[in-house]
Amino acid sequence: VRAYDWIAHHARNAGDDSAAVDLHENRRLSYRELDRRVARLAAWLREAGVARGDRAAILAQNCTDYFELQFACQRLGAIFVPLNWRLTVPELRFIVGDAAPRVLIHDPEFAEAAHALAQSVQGLALLARGGAASDYERALASVEPLAAEACEPVTHDDVSTIMYTSGTTGHPKGAMITHGMTFWNVVNLGMPAEIGYNTVFLAVLPLFHTGGLNCYSNPVFHAGGQVIVQRAFEPGEALRMIADPALGLTHFFGVPAHFQFLLQHPDFDRTDLSQLRVAGVGGAPMPVPLLQAWQARGVPVIQGYGMTETSPSVLCLDRRDAVRKVGSAGKPVLHTETRIVDEQGRDVAPGEMGELWVRGPNVTPGYWNRPEANKASFTDGWLHTGDAARVDEEGYYYIVDRTKDMYISGGENVYPAEVESVLYQIPQLAEAAIIGVPDERWGEVGKAIVAVKPGQALTEEQILDHCRENLARFKLPRYVEFVEALPRTASGKVHKPTLRQSYGGK
Ligand code: ATP
Ligand code: MG
Repeated sequence: VRAYDWIAHHARNAGDDSAAVDLHENRRLSYRELDRRVARLAAWLREAGVARGDRAAILAQNCTDYFELQFACQRLGAIFVPLNWRLTVPELRFIVGDAAPRVLIHDPEFAEAAHALAQSVQGLALLARGGAASDYERALASVEPLAAEACEPVTHDDVSTIMYTSGTTGHPKGAMITHGMTFWNVVNLGMPAEIGYNTVFLAVLPLFHTGGLNCYSNPVFHAGGQVIVQRAFEPGEALRMIADPALGLTHFFGVPAHFQFLLQHPDFDRTDLSQLRVAGVGGAPMPVPLLQAWQARGVPVIQGYGMTETSPSVLCLDRRDAVRKVGSAGKPVLHTETRIVDEQGRDVAPGEMGELWVRGPNVTPGYWNRPEANKASFTDGWLHTGDAARVDEEGYYYIVDRTKDMYISGGENVYPAEVESVLYQIPQLAEAAIIGVPDERWGEVGKAIVAVKPGQALTEEQILDHCRENLARFKLPRYVEFVEALPRTASGKVHKPTLRQSYGGK
């Protein structure tokens, strides 16, 4: 199988169809143009010494070059390594040292970081991108496109990408993503998300994470649809794009924060959302009040659950059940098995909570250079997700929270996501997170870290009153801290280690 055949296939069959659009850079590539550029980049990379199994990295804000590098690597049997540009140079140095790429393509604004990295990784060639006069464009023009016969054959089991996890719980880990994993995600997610050749998708999540690349960019390319990239998420611009009849957007995907920031934007109420057929959410606990606010605007946001290590889809709702099963992350996708187990790895009784385990062709063979983590993360091919879940009598799954974020108050387990969902019912509240903090009497108690909407007022007493009406005593937060905004990862998830560091003392 050659994953790149998606692009070559569509170039042959519907070459003039629009494939990838970047309005910020004023670039619109048809499938035929994308295919030629991929073939040129593959030829240039080969000349630069990138051979089968070698790595090639990119350090850039969202742009269509991500896709070109991904598909060019696939044509060479090489490994695509997208990097998080929000990391500091020492953090990047660790990752780049770990992946040891031969080539690093970078935005001009990251030139300094790229040069610093080149000093610590032997034989790393840099290629600056961005604009018609860039080195990247000159490199493409300097070579003849790599012929189809010159491409390396690959199998489903070959590694195509090293994708770093979001780093929500600690240091990012490089998950090895095979061609097969990406393919099965295309199948598993393409169906519930109704992706086809007429899909027009707005990619706002960073393309260096699985969300941006695989929800839904890769499934859309596989189907021959169109991907419009937003350089970095900006809610006002995203709303304008969603409503723009000239773009004709049909699909959107975000983490819960995106839906929250869109909803809070002053233009939300007057934005026409009727073009959107499918809006998907995943990546972090999705408060039910937020889902309901979108449903009230006629958009049945479909929740899914997944992780970098499963490339990513594991569970998904579809439009049939999004409203009836609001709050559920759906059922296992077609080619995936799941179990919910107790601490000894035994299946729990139906309806009980336990850790979610996953097995299937979409599961990673392991982390790059991390033998210890690999041993700890699998049992007989089952990946331990570290997420607590339960399943209802109809077979729908509910993700409770990460087991790591749970705390124990007076002997009772408290999952912050449940408390956060109650906080999100408060209309004046913009963002909220709960952490467990030490307490002499109860072992641990909850602390709420809260941001209030601009121009609104909210007191600690109002928050606690609302909690008392809706939550059992042991779940009530003991403390409230007000902040301007919550610290978030590049993929828009609340970074709880930072919160624990700043507010975890008491
Ligand atoms: P790291 O592993 O580096 O700490 P991360 O786990 O956030 O970061 P990702 O692979 O991007 O990295 O995210 C996967 C995680 O996102 C899941 O393990 C789960 O905790 C969370 N998640 C995904 N979908 C959902 C969902 N629908 N509801 C709640 N949590 C979700
Ligand atoms: Mg993780």
